[in-house]
Amino acid sequence: MINTDVVIVGAGPCGIFQVFELGLLGLKAQVIDSIREPGGQCVELYPDKPIYDIPAIPVCTGEELTQALMRQIEPFDCGMHLGEEVAVLQRQADDTFLVETSAGRQFNAKAVVIAAGVGSFQPRALRAAGIDALSENKLHYRVRNPEQFAGKKLAILGGGDSALDWVVELAGVAQHITLVHRRDEYRAAQATVDKMRALEVAGKVATIENARVTEIVGEDDTISSIVVKPKESDSVNVDVEEVLVFFGLAPKLGPIADWGLDINRKTINVDTEKFETSEPGIYAVGDINHYPGKKKLILCGFHEAALAAFAIKQRLEPGKKVHLQYTTTSPIMHQRLGVED
Ligand code: FAD
Repeated sequence: MINTDVVIVGAGPCGIFQVFELGLLGLKAQVIDSIREPGGQCVELYPDKPIYDIPAIPVCTGEELTQALMRQIEPFDCGMHLGEEVAVLQRQADDTFLVETSAGRQFNAKAVVIAAGVGSFQPRALRAAGIDALSENKLHYRVRNPEQFAGKKLAILGGGDSALDWVVELAGVAQHITLVHRRDEYRAAQATVDKMRALEVAGKVATIENARVTEIVGEDDTISSIVVKPKESDSVNVDVEEVLVFFGLAPKLGPIADWGLDINRKTINVDTEKFETSEPGIYAVGDINHYPGKKKLILCGFHEAALAAFAIKQRLEPGKKVHLQYTTTSPIMHQRLGVED
């Protein structure tokens, strides 16, 4: 059990900045995210795209913004638990909260901030006959160890960056790759598409375009083939041993819907003074919250995180006035930031 002042659900830009705002007020935080790196949508959906509306930063990419935010929270020594979904959130008899992740890690927190954006990102699943006969996790939605595909016949499904990056990467490892895509145009970077076409000419990769996989033939831990149905012709059977699916990631509200909060169409209602939910001690900032006039912008989430931090400080130290202090002049904030006076 990890004891902390605050658990933050979600390591998107607003969750990360929440650590900073709490840290300035002397509060410790633990952050949990279901994806394996911090940054939320900025890193998962548009890492290389420029953002132009972060105050005082004329332009930065999603990746650069995340790196800068991570540097900004370095003084505060928060715990980051990545690749774990928050599954359970329960109020305890002493008004603290039990938080438990999908990996069974438990936290006890005096307050919780939900910064879960549009939900936790999950790979879009393949729907095809025969999947139920396979062992769980037999279809690969991510690659952890490319060597496990050495010398094998692979099917890679999808037409975006992930699918084509892995076609190019695994072509040097696998015996053969069949790429199945439902269109004949690819959404991946042109340079990667060109590399894939070169591998096709070299006979390392075969493409089946304007087609979808309708059946996986196999049982338990063994796949023997896939059935592919092109739009304009009859189904074909392709011998493969492993199937990798890259249909992109879809956000799911997931377990948050079961935490007894006042939900408004996949968002959580909050007030605009404390950004507290219908459950005292549970706050929500960033894209996940809703209030009149809400705008899903990073800068709005930063403001919400600042006010939520003040409200949490007040909740944890009732009866004491929480003074506004400036980072330029406050000795206690300098101490917390680890900078010299
Ligand atoms: P997110 O970034 O969505 O992060 C939430 C995190 O919480 C995710 O990583 C998710 O995995 C995690 N999570 C959710 N549920 C759980 C759970 N149960 N357990 C564990 N983890 C969980 N905004 C701007 O201000 N300017 C722009 O120029 C701009 N451009 C954009 C371009 C695109 C293409 C897109 C898609 C968005 C853009 N946005 C922009 C919007 C901006 O990205 C969001 O407002 C911002 O990411 C919200 O941050 P967040 O921290 O609230 O949530």
